[in-house]
Amino acid sequence: MSMHDAPVSNGPLDLLIADATLIFADGSARAAQLGIRGAHIAYLGDARPAATRTLSLPGRVVTPGFVNAHYHAGLNFVRGVAPDCGFAPSYTPGLPQASWLDAEEALALSRLGALEALRAGCTTLADSFVHAEATVEGIAQTGVRVFASQRLADVDFASVLAGERRFDRARGERQLERAAAFVARWAGQANGRIQAHLTAHAPDTCSVALLEDIATLARRHDLPISTHLAQSTDEVDWVRQQHGRSPVELLDEIGLLDGRLLAGHCIHVDDADIARLGRSGAHVVHIPLGNAISGRIAPTRRLLDAGAPLCLATDTMHGDMIEVMRWALAMGRLQAGAVGNDWQPSDVFAMATRHGAAALGWDARLGTLEVGRLADLAIIDFRQLHLTPRIDPLGNLVHNATGSDVECVIVDGRLVIEQGRALCVDEQQIRADAQRAVDAVWRRCPNPLRPYPSVSTIRS
Ligand SMILES: [Zn+2]
Repeated sequence: MSMHDAPVSNGPLDLLIADATLIFADGSARAAQLGIRGAHIAYLGDARPAATRTLSLPGRVVTPGFVNAHYHAGLNFVRGVAPDCGFAPSYTPGLPQASWLDAEEALALSRLGALEALRAGCTTLADSFVHAEATVEGIAQTGVRVFASQRLADVDFASVLAGERRFDRARGERQLERAAAFVARWAGQANGRIQAHLTAHAPDTCSVALLEDIATLARRHDLPISTHLAQSTDEVDWVRQQHGRSPVELLDEIGLLDGRLLAGHCIHVDDADIARLGRSGAHVVHIPLGNAISGRIAPTRRLLDAGAPLCLATDTMHGDMIEVMRWALAMGRLQAGAVGNDWQPSDVFAMATRHGAAALGWDARLGTLEVGRLADLAIIDFRQLHLTPRIDPLGNLVHNATGSDVECVIVDGRLVIEQGRALCVDEQQIRADAQRAVDAVWRRCPNPLRPYPSVSTIRS
């Protein structure tokens, strides 16, 4: 805990969050005042220094904004359907595909996904989407911080849907050029709230040549790299057959398995893979709800014991990181068959905040309540039946709260959600635009796995 009794520089604060309870990096909670100047936390202490605006928030709990380390804001067009189809949408015939969206539809859906996550207290998204060029600005307009990326894969996804893998080197080269242009155009925009990273889709959808090129591009621009790793037996079996090694081994040999990598899922890993991941410094992005709903569980306890840093994400599910902390806690305890001191609310809270920031290389700027850190905050209303009584604020947050209990969200020092309402964008408009886009893309889906409902009966 970093407490200062005086503002770090002179002059009034822009905003003082007063009378609330703050949760610090070690999981401890205490009543304190938090002052913001510009984009940063400038004061933590017991006094009430002068501020242009003071929000008195008794009964509320302030945490660092959550970091969703693996998200696809625009993939909500299969929401409520894809989890019951057995596998990721990109591999599932009968579901609309992201590549079918036009730019306007992709934007509408991504704004919905971004706002939903922000509304639930998630202030940083590591977002990967085919249409990133069309969506990044609209995502940032919601007020969220985003590490945006395109999906890089030189497989022909139509061949994947048909059960094979056909690669096209020229496709990969075009995508790399687009990725380099994307980084040049967008990294650092919106006062730095937009950052770029790279997404190598998966070891079975990227050729070795493309993976090598992605590693080179990431080193050149000092970028994090997201991927899906050991997500299915299908992927592992295909990579072993094709390359004679596991996906983890393959990425290691290519030079991708290091502190730059955000490895999503890591479900189907053997003892050697776990040891290798633990040695590598790669960040394992744990997606407990997405994994569980598809009948899978990642060996997070063994990965942690091996030394792998863990962070958390919602992937294609809703953007509520509070619920995902609860799932991570439960999935870890299911693996142990017990409640231990090493898998407690403070551990999953760290995964949802500062470990996510560390995975993106921003742990010196984000993820904890400290003077000098960026003021990215979630303010949660604990004056509710299910959050009463208050004994241990962190325990109450992890076990009993949901994203809809978030009352205010601050990103980059700016209030972007107040009393549960979006201040930067029109929520009604975003919902309407997204519904219209989803109606259109499902109407274009041949042989859909689910009959698309008559929207006139469900729209409100
Ligand atoms: Zn994903």
